[in-house]
Amino acid sequence: MTVMLMDLADTGSPEGLVSLILKHEPEFRVPVPIEELALQLEIEQIADLETDGFEGGLITDSNRSRGIILVKRSVNQPRRRFTIGHELGHFLIANHVPDKDGRFLCSRQDLQTLSAKEGDRRAKMEVEANRFSSLILMPPPKLREYFKRQPSPSIEHVFELAERFQVSKEAMARACADHHPESLAFIIVKDGKVGRIYQNRKRFPFIIASRTKPVPQGSLFYRRDLRVGTPSEIDQRLPDLWIDVPRGQRASTLSEQVCLQKNGYALIMLWHEEADEDQEEGEDMTARDRWRAQQEKYQRG
Ligand SMILES: [Zn+2]
Repeated sequence: MTVMLMDLADTGSPEGLVSLILKHEPEFRVPVPIEELALQLEIEQIADLETDGFEGGLITDSNRSRGIILVKRSVNQPRRRFTIGHELGHFLIANHVPDKDGRFLCSRQDLQTLSAKEGDRRAKMEVEANRFSSLILMPPPKLREYFKRQPSPSIEHVFELAERFQVSKEAMARACADHHPESLAFIIVKDGKVGRIYQNRKRFPFIIASRTKPVPQGSLFYRRDLRVGTPSEIDQRLPDLWIDVPRGQRASTLSEQVCLQKNGYALIMLWHEEADEDQEEGEDMTARDRWRAQQEKYQRG
């Protein structure tokens, strides 16, 4: 690696930092060598965090010329990598100010903060550090290469990419919602209730299902033949099950795929396709057909 800390000076945003790093490191491999990158950028050491109740930390000097990243012991590799990315974000984003004595301490919740209220500076720093971590571990140009190779979205593909990029399934689902060329949303379900929702707000229609409420009746989630760890097939649902469909608007297509996970969790993928004005009758290939074709191709190898 050749990127230097001083190459990144005067860049304040996660997006700006990541695109500069990628410019200097065009041959970045996947999974991104995050520890190597941190050490290259004047992090002296990545050590165990001994403070209870926190997931990660950063010790640095006031002019941010060097730092030590701390990570909670015995967390799995994807979580460790995300924490390192997050702390490296605090280190690199110029206006991030530590709490006290040159130290950042970040809780599990900080590492999940994706939005901040106006004026909440602390939360804003966490949001930016998380954005940096996601972008550096799953660089959008790299993701797009994989989407190009396999354009049809599916939970199987999310899992495969999570493995490839060495990130959690949830982090990859979030990145797919943001960067996949198709219009997708992912919903984390816990004990039958809607939890975190990831969607690209510019592209995906407003989701009416609200957090902490049960998954809407009619969802594939209620199918009886689902098995933990095995994604269902992709199937079309009535769009108004999940999204706001304005009256008089041409019907769009909404497909769903569900994967039950351990400990009462489940992941739901929603795939929204606008009605195509020019499409000839009968030529219309549904999401499900395309997914089937993809699966068959897969099996044939
Ligand atoms: Zn933090």
